[in-house]
Amino acid sequence: MTSHAIRQVRVTPIAFRDPPLLNAAGIHEPWALRAILEIETASGLVGINETYGDQSMLDVLAKAAPALQGLSPWDLNTMETRVQAMVKVPVQTAGHTSEFLGEQISLAPGTHVSKNAAKAISAFEVAMLDLQGQLANAPVVDLLGGAAREAVPFSAYLFFKYAEHIDQAGTDYPADPFGEGLAPEQMVAQARRMIAQYGFKSIKLKAGALPPEQEVAALLALAKAFPGAPLRIDPNANWSVATSLNVVEQLRGVLEYYEDPAPGLQGMAEVAQQCEVPLATNMVVTDYKEFAENVRLGCPVRIVLSDHHYWGGLRTTQQLSRLCQTFDMGLSMHSNSHLGISLIAMTHLAASVPHLSYACDTHYPWQDEEIVQGGRLTFENGSLRVPRGPGLGVRIDPESLARLHDNYLRCGIRARDDLGQMRKYDPTFTGKQPRY
Ligand code: MG
Repeated sequence: MTSHAIRQVRVTPIAFRDPPLLNAAGIHEPWALRAILEIETASGLVGINETYGDQSMLDVLAKAAPALQGLSPWDLNTMETRVQAMVKVPVQTAGHTSEFLGEQISLAPGTHVSKNAAKAISAFEVAMLDLQGQLANAPVVDLLGGAAREAVPFSAYLFFKYAEHIDQAGTDYPADPFGEGLAPEQMVAQARRMIAQYGFKSIKLKAGALPPEQEVAALLALAKAFPGAPLRIDPNANWSVATSLNVVEQLRGVLEYYEDPAPGLQGMAEVAQQCEVPLATNMVVTDYKEFAENVRLGCPVRIVLSDHHYWGGLRTTQQLSRLCQTFDMGLSMHSNSHLGISLIAMTHLAASVPHLSYACDTHYPWQDEEIVQGGRLTFENGSLRVPRGPGLGVRIDPESLARLHDNYLRCGIRARDDLGQMRKYDPTFTGKQPRY
């Protein structure tokens, strides 16, 4: 055992405030969950990372953590082999019997059990790369081949939303500063506020929550208010093929890409046949098997919105980028509610990928908490500069970690449930998809 051998893996679940953001599956709960990893070597170095914090993920991490015992931080391949052996992928049953599981998968592929090994490998890989960077005195982006760009562009990620949570009265925090976001002029105001603060150039509208004509009206208002800004709309497969085609016709000349309008790769293929706007996805091309199926169908999906948290890490996402290039497909990044460690890992990765075609998604503006020392990360002109310090270039603030872990203990949420939360507003809400 060398002095830098891994001797301990700490996983700390945390919860942070999350606004009442609407989506196809329902609405965000008042607290979002994440897990913070600390991998410590015998020599006392600590590599860090951030990943999903649902109970199922905590169970997977607990099961896989012994794989790291005694490993060198450089032994990523051994780590992968061991984790794959320890986290068996469950046999896929035909169709999803659990309605709840189905809802969650469609919104956040990272919650699917078939991704368990890839998620655990990613969680450990980033923390081990952070250790490697400390040992080599090099930023993670250099370990990945060096920076193809000094700063990574992100997009303004707009949500239809209520002004307050239904149970805000029972919480110890005030309503978020964005206010209600339902009418087109409210969505323009939301965009103006976010862009004024962060400088984003591209705009993404999360849709699939309100009747499509209302969502179209909002997007057209944004196109008018921000002429020339690249615009995207993402209804999370909550529209039929007919509705998808109807919507894109009304948005003619406005969209940069069209994200997951209709359900399934087959639905996307049907839309693609009659639609000039390139289709993007984080729902139907979520692993290499699905990538191959998309290629077999002649690439109806033109842009993969990758996410290192469930694709299996930073290095495999670099390989995905090569594949996208090979098949003349674009690449960008998907996001879930997250804090600064995830954002910085995305930034190192995106900076290392020459073939990054679009500004990446991030939920960061919707959060007001932070876990890293120095507090909230600062964007310049909508981009985040790649840190040049060793490893990820950010460290955990112990007081913040303790506070956010305390939130977790008190909040009562152990698995994300947008559907259940929506039923508090509307008991008749079924979450059936596609809804329109
Ligand atoms: Mg999406």
